Amino acid sequence: MSQPIYNRVALIGLGLIASSMFWAIKRSGLAGEVTGYARSAQTRDKAREIGLCDRVCDSAVEAVEGADLVVLCVPIGAMGPVMQEIAGSLMPGATVSDVGSVKRHVIDVVQPLIPEGVHFVPAHPLAGTEHSGPESGFAELYDNRWCLLVPVEGSDPDAVARLRALWEGMGSNVDEMEADHHDLVLAVTSHTPHLIAYTMVGVADDLRRVTDSEVIKYSAAGFRDFTRIAASDPTMWRDVFLTNKEATLEILGRFTEELFALQRAIRTGDGEHLHEYFTHTRAIRRGIIEAGQDTDAPDFGRGQASSSTGGQDK
Ligand code: NAP
Repeated sequence: MSQPIYNRVALIGLGLIASSMFWAIKRSGLAGEVTGYARSAQTRDKAREIGLCDRVCDSAVEAVEGADLVVLCVPIGAMGPVMQEIAGSLMPGATVSDVGSVKRHVIDVVQPLIPEGVHFVPAHPLAGTEHSGPESGFAELYDNRWCLLVPVEGSDPDAVARLRALWEGMGSNVDEMEADHHDLVLAVTSHTPHLIAYTMVGVADDLRRVTDSEVIKYSAAGFRDFTRIAASDPTMWRDVFLTNKEATLEILGRFTEELFALQRAIRTGDGEHLHEYFTHTRAIRRGIIEAGQDTDAPDFGRGQASSSTGGQDK
């Protein structure tokens, strides 16, 4: 057990990310108390039933009272309204952070609402599964996964260091990154791949009507992996694309060009081009495994109930 880093942590939103934070905080004794709030009574009741949070509150204002760390764990589109609600109730000296998958937008909507004397340190854990809700979290989600801190101009170094210690205590490796760069990197590593998975599953679904469910019945590895990614939370992903528009469109443009080049190679029978391309991409996969960000288990870790090797970005 570690020394508590915060006296009271308030988690606003009680889904996959917040519930995993709670279990990871408890695992290592990183906070004196953890309070929680979610919008629906149903989620709050479920949280109470499963012992998620030391205290589940019926309002966000009540949850943040006396908290020295408040973490916004709601969909990106809800960050601004939630911040508006709690701004007047934050303790002087407290830190507000978030876990949103897009950083520039969250900074633009949240930072102007941060009161004098309160610190703001945005963050993004690069860990997730396709599951959501209060029951989906587990303490190991952040183990050996990256968490990116995205300090804003004037972020207090002590507040940043304390938040870093919390994420390290929850098992993460921590790096700092600038907001626009973060959004571009994530457009490549997570956002565009998700869009491609959504599209591929949509195409297969169209075909399924023609092939009488053979797509599902004979579902092979490539397609099954797409369906797992495409099962991710629709609200979260709608918000990601609405708020990381430019970077995603930029990467999609490049993707389309590469796709056309491969299409051309297939049409013209340019096996050399295809072989060279696939050799290069195979090396990238090896690099990811060597960096410890996935395993080379033949089943892609599908045997595990809550696969953190499914570590989508997010
Ligand atoms: P989730 O499992 O769907 O949970 C979202 C939570 O936010 C729920 O408790 C929901 O409450 C609450 N909520 C939604 N709208 C709200 C509002 N207007 N006011 C108050 N509470 C509201 O989502 P998640 O996967 O934990 O994602 C949360 C955040 O983490 C998102 O910003 C996402 O971009 C980011 N993130 C996600 C992943 C991932 O893989 N899932 C990875 C990294 C970062 P109810 O249950 O009552 O509706």
